[in-house]
Amino acid sequence: MRYFPVFADLDGADVLVAGGGEQAAQKVRLLARSGARIAVVAEAVCDELAAQAERGAIDLLRRAFRANDVRGRRLVYVATGDRTRDAAVSRAAQARGVPVNVVDAPELSTFITPALVDRSPVTVAIGTEGAAPVLAREIRARIEAMLPANLGALAARAQALRERVAETVTDPRARRCLWERLLQGPFRRAVLAGAQDEAERILADELEVGQRQRTGRVALVGCGPGDPDLLTLKALQRMQEADVLVIDRLVDHRILEYARRDAERIFVGKDPHGASTPQAEIDRILVREAKAGKVVARLKGGDPFIFGRAAEEMSALQRAGVPVEVVPGVTAAHACAARIGLPVTLREGVRQFSVVTGATSDGLPDIDWEALAAPGAACAIYMGVGNAPIIRRRLVAAGADPDTPVVLVENGTRPNERAAATTLGDLADCVTHLGFVGPAVIFVGLDWTEACIERPESVAVYRRAPVPERGTGTAPCLELEILQ
Ligand code: SAH
Repeated sequence: MRYFPVFADLDGADVLVAGGGEQAAQKVRLLARSGARIAVVAEAVCDELAAQAERGAIDLLRRAFRANDVRGRRLVYVATGDRTRDAAVSRAAQARGVPVNVVDAPELSTFITPALVDRSPVTVAIGTEGAAPVLAREIRARIEAMLPANLGALAARAQALRERVAETVTDPRARRCLWERLLQGPFRRAVLAGAQDEAERILADELEVGQRQRTGRVALVGCGPGDPDLLTLKALQRMQEADVLVIDRLVDHRILEYARRDAERIFVGKDPHGASTPQAEIDRILVREAKAGKVVARLKGGDPFIFGRAAEEMSALQRAGVPVEVVPGVTAAHACAARIGLPVTLREGVRQFSVVTGATSDGLPDIDWEALAAPGAACAIYMGVGNAPIIRRRLVAAGADPDTPVVLVENGTRPNERAAATTLGDLADCVTHLGFVGPAVIFVGLDWTEACIERPESVAVYRRAPVPERGTGTAPCLELEILQ
């Protein structure tokens, strides 16, 4: 982040605009919203600026710029229409330590002006460090559409209420919770709808409730496989409300960027190869934090109900009388299948799709391998790479064709994602030779060809070289060939 965003207080501040054309007028229009005292220096000015000078809205210095004009200014904007003159103003400002912006010339500027969404007192500033103004405009348009036009009225109302709320609800956490309810619930809707009496009534109720002791609660939040764009809006809300985040190892660190910055973070990684927090300890932490009156978001990879041990946590919380809610997430199998364009059911071909675990704490789970090996059945195996040789053996022993298509996706939706297509017979070799360590999903019985879909080029194809005819003596039968 080369350009650090700040909001400058320009109320009553002296600001200089050098230049008298349309670009200078645009800057004056923008600055006028801030309450700054604006001086314009230019030998000639457009009609708009002349009219503003006449009305006394700006102070017009109708002459050439002098270096001393920048003295005492909070900011200087430059749009003289002539780069040499622009550069002279910029030099004068920089020599006196006054922040300066030359329109469309970042190299002559010490600050840049972001794209703005103005719902004063709510202001959203969007910057791309000059790299992609078109992108900034697109983001602005989206935020414009997202924010109600009179959001400013709500913020202003909140401002006016600050003292009353602080006096009535003295506990800081209870107060934040109250603000969340006011600014996100019925009070907000009433203010935005202009229903002042109703807003006042709701406020009185909320203040009364806010004074009572708050009980904590826990949300088990599915955070998806990694890509933050796959978070649900509800997951985002819960992360932003939480006082405490209890975070799984599988939760991508990019996701944490979306949580409240001042929320406490407790990492309870269950790393199969490293230190881990026992489940009972995690249950205890959740109960302890909620009982202390905190709002807890328990962040889990994928979906909490799919190999996420949500049941143990829910049960422990319910036994302790703590309210618990589950926020679903995109599970690894769905996200990985989507990444490689691989449908998990097919109208004619695949009518049964199972989600199974390829490992348990004490080895390979007791699974109905015959059902998985049946024609027309497909499955996604979680936590299976470590047991790939046994999974292959069991499926083949249960009657599966060794030529059954198999696809592996490791670190799906993360920057280090990779995928390979192979066959059941070659599964174990594929895992070893391509060095898959997980987290990965192994799809069995799914293929692009059957669905008449193209396999993406990003998916490597792994197959053993064809076994040579007996006696030809060429390639040994275990030689491996990696296509692509
Ligand atoms: N609740 C999670 C699953 C947790 S079990 C969910 O719904 O996705 C952990 C297993 O999930 C891993 O061993 C792996 O099989 C799978 N997994 C999780 N994230 C993954 C990812 N980004 N790519 C591939 N597989 C992943």
